Amino acid sequence: MTPEELKQLIRTVPDFPKPGIMFRDVTTLIGHGAGLAAATEILADKARDAGAHAIAGIEARGFIFGAAAAARLGVPFVPVRKPGKLPVPVLAMDYALEYGTDTLEVDPAAVIDGQSVVLIDDLIATGGTAHAAVQLLRRAGAVVSRGLFVIDLPALGGADRLRGADLTVDAIMA
Ligand code: IMP
Repeated sequence: MTPEELKQLIRTVPDFPKPGIMFRDVTTLIGHGAGLAAATEILADKARDAGAHAIAGIEARGFIFGAAAAARLGVPFVPVRKPGKLPVPVLAMDYALEYGTDTLEVDPAAVIDGQSVVLIDDLIATGGTAHAAVQLLRRAGAVVSRGLFVIDLPALGGADRLRGADLTVDAIMA
């Protein structure tokens, strides 16, 4: 399937999670077998080209695409988790949301020093979530130079923001 065909599998839900937001819902893509296979193949190919020794995914939708791509390449998967989920001492990073803050956590033992880790998530908007994840992975010893997304919303400036943090952003669709 082409990126254009994959785009047709994304459901747009108005006013979720709050009024005025057009939510891009990837559950309709992962609910389509050929779509999931094609998206996984594209992400895995891009991660291989970027020299990934491991793939990190952001909870929760980044786990779906990241783990599938890692399994396809036969490389480790590093979960970037919401707070309080990992059963070991963690590295934690707070980041700003539109209202308030959120936190991401990584098990430092999940990353080998100097390992090239490619970050995967379903969608990049402002880039705040991915930026926090990259900082965490770097603190854990990873070399992170590529972020891969199913969807980029370029009007929200995430890719530009991450370029400033030495991260190249690539996406299946915009
Ligand atoms: P950012 O931090 O502003 O780039 O927002 C990206 C994060 O929020 C990712 O972890 C996405 O899963 C989630 N997100 C934001 N907007 C959407 C959307 O329209 N659909 C699905 N996820 C979204």
